[in-house]
Amino acid sequence: MTSTVIVGSSVGGVRTAQALRSEGYDGEVVLVGEESELPYDKPPLSKGLLAGTATADSVRLLTQDAADRAGIRLLLGHRATRVDVAANLVELQGHDPLRYDHLVVATGARARPSPWGERPGIHVVRVLRDAQLLRQDLLDGGHVVVVGAGFIGAEVASTARLLDLEVTLVDPLPVPMSRVLNPEVGGWFVDLHRRHGVRSIFGVGVEAIDGELGDFTVRLTDGSELAAAVVVVGIGAEPNDGWLRSSGLVVDNGLVCDQYCRAVDADNVFGVGDVARWFHPGYGAEMRVEHWTNAVDQAVCVAHNIAHPDDLRVYAPVEYVWSDQHDWKVQVVGRTSGTTEHVVVGDPAEDNRFAVLYTRDGTTLSGAAVVNWPRALIGCRRALRDGSRLAQVHDALTAQASKVQE
Ligand SMILES: Cc1cc2nc3c(=O)[nH]c(=O)nc-3n(C[C@H](O)[C@H](O)[C@H](O)COP(=O)(O)OP(=O)(O)OC[C@H]3O[C@@H](n4cnc5c(N)ncnc54)[C@H](O)[C@@H]3O)c2cc1C
Repeated sequence: MTSTVIVGSSVGGVRTAQALRSEGYDGEVVLVGEESELPYDKPPLSKGLLAGTATADSVRLLTQDAADRAGIRLLLGHRATRVDVAANLVELQGHDPLRYDHLVVATGARARPSPWGERPGIHVVRVLRDAQLLRQDLLDGGHVVVVGAGFIGAEVASTARLLDLEVTLVDPLPVPMSRVLNPEVGGWFVDLHRRHGVRSIFGVGVEAIDGELGDFTVRLTDGSELAAAVVVVGIGAEPNDGWLRSSGLVVDNGLVCDQYCRAVDADNVFGVGDVARWFHPGYGAEMRVEHWTNAVDQAVCVAHNIAHPDDLRVYAPVEYVWSDQHDWKVQVVGRTSGTTEHVVVGDPAEDNRFAVLYTRDGTTLSGAAVVNWPRALIGCRRALRDGSRLAQVHDALTAQASKVQE
């Protein structure tokens, strides 16, 4: 019997295992994970799980029963340490090596560690235990300083406000989110936090964090200081690709893959999710994306390519990410950074529903950021797929907006 070993037991790994079965793959499927927890989902960690509206059970991706029914062998609590590509073997901590016909690397990413020391009360949010420990500290009350106003930092700040805590958000960029969404749009996020009682200090970095849980002093680069009970560091993530380095596989800020998501120098090794850097044929460039929907879609593509090697599919998605911040559900689709122009439908200052449309060539829609407007998102996705003109999408959304107001 053939065997597929999937390393990484979060959404990318689980969805690959499940998709292999729905694609009719009848070989052995082994899902290896270094955490001994049953697989769970990550987006609720900075949202419902932190707020207390979700539990560890409610964020499970797979139960032992479901795995048994699907014929997925779970091998949890074992870290993969090395791949022997020539012998088709994965070496594991605390377990005999596994032989594979196909190997799927779905080891995701880890939070970039705090450069200002790691000790109780200084948190990152990447795994379930991180969110549980942070929640415990938040429930003790006190001032929370969040360093980094990207998606995860902004979500933690927003959840901490829901818990009625005093929150300060610090970021060295004068306007966070400006690189991804442009400075004008980034400014609306600054206003959003302000409206919801988050104090923001932007354009200033952190020099050091002194003290201990309940009594920290965060020293800023402008010489000022913030007292904090808890500090959350949300300064990005790094791919979990270190264990592949001795394998001879090409690793460069992720496992480097071709347009079929196969490792560039090993036809039977595939990359899925946050750890995969693959060649996007639509953009003519390599990409690595840290978004949930990408892990799911790439898993389906990889499962297909393993189950049907004579009918390989290229992987050329339109990127999509969502984020929940205060009373905004933000959905970003396509390419918004590096654009030449943007237009806005709706008034971010007046109502909580608007869309920003971006173009790279001055004519065609390249991406959109949509707030609290699911129908607009559907329209933008369709327009991106069809290569529609920005003006056409703008007119359609303007008509839709005025219809809703009538
Ligand atoms: C707090 C938080 C909130 C998020 N919110 C959103 C959101 O709102 N919207 C959105 O689009 N995306 C969001 N994301 C991103 C999204 O969750 C990730 O893109 C997604 O989890 C990627 O899945 P993955 O399976 O590729 O990797 P991961 O989820 O990182 O999982 C990788 C797995 O591999 C395991 N592993 C690592 N190394 C080894 C090894 N050597 N051996 C064995 N196992 C190993 C890890 O323990 C982990 O279980 C969020 C992420 C976080 C952390």
